[in-house]
Amino acid sequence: MFNKTKIVATVGPASNSKEVIKSLVLAGVDVFRLNFSHGTHAAHKAVIDLIHEVNDELDTHVGILADLQGPKIRLGEVENNSIELVAGKTINITTIPQVSTAEQLYITYAEFAHDVKPGNRVLIDDGKFELKVISTNGIDTVKAKVIYGGIVSSKKGTNLPDTHVTAPSLTPKDIEDLRFILKERVHWVALSFVRTADDIQRLRGMLQFENNHTTKIIAKIERPEAIENIDKIIEATDGIMVARGDLGVEVPLEKVPIMQKMIVNKCISAAKPVIIATQMMESMMINPSPTRAEVTDVANAILDGADALMLSGETATGIHPVRVIDTFRAIINEVEKNGDIYSKYDKGHGPNPKSPTFLSDDICYNACRISDDIGAKAITGMTVSGYTAFMLSSFRPKSDIFIFTTNDHYLNSFSLIWGVRAFHYTSFTTTDDTMNDIQQILREKGFLKSGDRMVITASMPLVEQGRTNTIKISVVD
Ligand code: PGA
Ligand code: MN
Repeated sequence: MFNKTKIVATVGPASNSKEVIKSLVLAGVDVFRLNFSHGTHAAHKAVIDLIHEVNDELDTHVGILADLQGPKIRLGEVENNSIELVAGKTINITTIPQVSTAEQLYITYAEFAHDVKPGNRVLIDDGKFELKVISTNGIDTVKAKVIYGGIVSSKKGTNLPDTHVTAPSLTPKDIEDLRFILKERVHWVALSFVRTADDIQRLRGMLQFENNHTTKIIAKIERPEAIENIDKIIEATDGIMVARGDLGVEVPLEKVPIMQKMIVNKCISAAKPVIIATQMMESMMINPSPTRAEVTDVANAILDGADALMLSGETATGIHPVRVIDTFRAIINEVEKNGDIYSKYDKGHGPNPKSPTFLSDDICYNACRISDDIGAKAITGMTVSGYTAFMLSSFRPKSDIFIFTTNDHYLNSFSLIWGVRAFHYTSFTTTDDTMNDIQQILREKGFLKSGDRMVITASMPLVEQGRTNTIKISVVD
């Protein structure tokens, strides 16, 4: 048995050495996230190479998720790295690059004066400071009143929750980053501040233009429009991230917990993996142990049914990167042992008869059901496209899910999916031979022993590589 809920860890100065990356993998990291809001391409390349090196040495398939910054809005440099915004005062916000002062702030979003309307809020530094727009000249300058003030330092993130932001989801920087990413072996690309399914389609179009059909897409849900368009976004994407950092500023914070549950539920129904992100172990940035509230939040995210949980600053810049993973693992183990997170087909997530893939979905569903009924130790699938891996996982069977694929790249992509472990396998000859091989491989690796029950799904005839259409129960001899 291994953990079913996956761990995504962001790499940063605290973790970009081979030694720490290796320790993090051994502690249980399944996917590393590279944050393209920071760092040069050379630095990212060095980390990517290290992860591949560690994977080779440990014979693991840890995935790589490249997270594009998207239209993130920031303040520029501020005078002496510290200015005071005084509540009640009216100040200017300009889009002409300059060092900001307490009277005039520079914001990195060129269309700001054009897009905002009087009454719109401007939230700075995770919403700690709030300004309200009084008027705009429509070109480069906005007058705004400080509602909640305080000391502001350079480059703080800025959110415009009331404003229809017209900036494209893929900024020129994102496109440049994407060109770099596509040259590397990266398994997932995340798009920030997604608003509509079109944003995903545009990214997919770029991947296809580059003849890249294997890099999968994560849509980060952190804008109010994304919540409105959530069904279409889930349909268009390969996976979702509940990006609670920006989401909690862009929508009233108290709405985030229910939104998290709503999104996770929809993702399980759609068989798309979902990551819960941000502040999961925030206090461990400095402390050796988490708060009660953090432990409970992590446990609740697992109980909601998340595929994966993500760490940001905790592993990127915190002082206890490996300890954070150990703590995560302990919570995951406990909830997976005693929490009610399995057999989602009995909890409103059955296969959809209207889906064009209903017949194979129904095979996956029944394979999971049988596997739970007979207390199987393994459920196996073979896939070219990855579809069976996503589908089997979505029913959350109790047994481990072992996926056999010819596509090396997907071995690492599947690291993000709940409960899935993937193996490289090419000799799809006769069904009998392959089924025996699979059993043999799992036995040799110590996942199965004599007398264990297993459920095998397959597509017969194998050589046609069609959709899954067969279930076999087998007892390991
Ligand atoms: P970020 O995304 O860390 O790139 O901002 C995550 C979030 O907003 O929660
Ligand atoms: Mn964000």
